[in-house]
Amino acid sequence: MTSLAGIPVAPGVAHGPAWRHREHPTTAASGSQAPLTVEQLQALAERAARDLEALAERLRASDRAQEAAIFDAQALMVTDPALIDDSTRRIAAGAPAATAVHEAAEAAAAALASLDNELLAARAADVRDVGARLARLVSDHRLELPTAPSIAVADDLPPSITAEIAPGMLLGIVLQEGSPTAHAAILARSLGIPAVMGVSGLLEAIEDAGVTADLAIDGTTGEVLLDPLPGDLARLESRRAGAGVIAERARAVRDRPASLADGERVTLLANWSSERDTAQALEVRAEGVGLYRTEFLFTGRSSTPSEAEQIEAYGAVFRAFGERPVVIRLADIGGDKQIPYLELPPESNPFLGVRALRLAARHRAMLVTQLRAISVAGALARVVPHVMAPMVSTIEDVELLHQLRDEAQASLASEGRPHAERIVTGIMVEVPSAALMSAELAPLVDFFSIGTNDLTQYIMAADRTNPDLANLQEALHPAVLRAIAMVVAGADAVGIPVAVCGELAGDPAGALVLVGLGVDELSAGPGSLDALRLHLASVTRAELDVLARQALAAHSGADVRALAAPLLARAE
Ligand code: PEP
Ligand code: MG
Repeated sequence: MTSLAGIPVAPGVAHGPAWRHREHPTTAASGSQAPLTVEQLQALAERAARDLEALAERLRASDRAQEAAIFDAQALMVTDPALIDDSTRRIAAGAPAATAVHEAAEAAAAALASLDNELLAARAADVRDVGARLARLVSDHRLELPTAPSIAVADDLPPSITAEIAPGMLLGIVLQEGSPTAHAAILARSLGIPAVMGVSGLLEAIEDAGVTADLAIDGTTGEVLLDPLPGDLARLESRRAGAGVIAERARAVRDRPASLADGERVTLLANWSSERDTAQALEVRAEGVGLYRTEFLFTGRSSTPSEAEQIEAYGAVFRAFGERPVVIRLADIGGDKQIPYLELPPESNPFLGVRALRLAARHRAMLVTQLRAISVAGALARVVPHVMAPMVSTIEDVELLHQLRDEAQASLASEGRPHAERIVTGIMVEVPSAALMSAELAPLVDFFSIGTNDLTQYIMAADRTNPDLANLQEALHPAVLRAIAMVVAGADAVGIPVAVCGELAGDPAGALVLVGLGVDELSAGPGSLDALRLHLASVTRAELDVLARQALAAHSGADVRALAAPLLARAE
């Protein structure tokens, strides 16, 4: 038995044979390599585009719209004249056809990847994927797919491969590369299968185990077991059974507001990133939206969304949640979320650069328009809109936020447009300087919402997108918890509420520690709320106070998780 570890990116347990995906070789030795004319290549590209459109259609028909969008985009890429021209040039220079296509796609992908921007790097993966598809057609190579339910093992798994695998044949995904934001991770979560990524040594271990490798993976812990022993399988199986029982019990108590065993209420809110989240958040009885990520309105287009478009988008969520608060976050652009049409200059450290509220210096009107839209949408839906700014670092940043809000309100008033009487205005605390200054910031705002994803990245000095630093990306590290305790103390001194909207809030161990530290509201992906409700109901305030005290004095994130484990076991 070999035990490996990676980054858990989609929860659940899977056990089954390994299915090793290898990229189709495009060297001279592979398949037919007869020279192709530009017309022949164009015809094959058209065929690939039709295959991709059909694939997108199939996915849409089985409610996999998010994946379908990937292939709609790829259908456009595969007939891109630049790809065809470059491939034809390489064929004319003597390269075998499949090799030429592969190299042309690789060159285009490398150009995108070199821009050091996560979004464009993801596009680079699509360009490579498209190149591999066209190269397969050129060399008449048939894709090998699993013939029995299996766990996919690969360096990286392109979306076109995963989408071609028949439902039921994919039990889980384990990759040597990859990250939580990779296509394969999104796919695994939407299919509800476990996935573990960034598993170093994976391919070598699989080669050593041979074709009959038996695999077990836990997408919640990141555990990958090769040829597992019966005892290990039993342990994983009992974890899987436990998770199923929790889900069932949690569904049964949805209608009770979340509270601790001794009755103290805890507010559970949903994080909102796409339209799909509205229905799920309402179904799991979220008490509102603690983080509405507005970036989706700004990405995948060629200009900023208009005020009218934004009024419609925010209004739809306000109307859906009615009296329940919806906290809209001003666009968090920059860092790993680049928007080409804003033409921001390249930066060597984008996460430490002109990001989010800091964009006001160059794109003030964009933020004012967003605040105007939030105000109008609130007035039309007859709700008090809540807004928060990401990446606040200083008192001056809060003053800037207030100026932008007041400018938006004053302009609407002078135009005689309907607008909210009041906008509840808070800040995200996700930069260490804001945590350290929380006592001074608290009197200036209506609420704090702690972004533990960024707070952890900045406190631990570990890029949140780098899988090699997974050991440092631990929001339960006492260093991060001490910052959170400081933020709670700052808020308590003036009586404003503190929410946590980073991923830690949806992690049951995290939720217990956070409530122990005095956090009032937890905002997490709607899929996490059922389990949180159950775990919170099985512990008392006194127990959480002890847990928080011990966690603050612990030496590592692992120690904190060990402290929370006995309390979590109660609900399992
Ligand atoms: C965070 O940083 O914790 C957060 C919630 O924001 P995002 O993940 O969108 O940066
Ligand atoms: Mg953040």
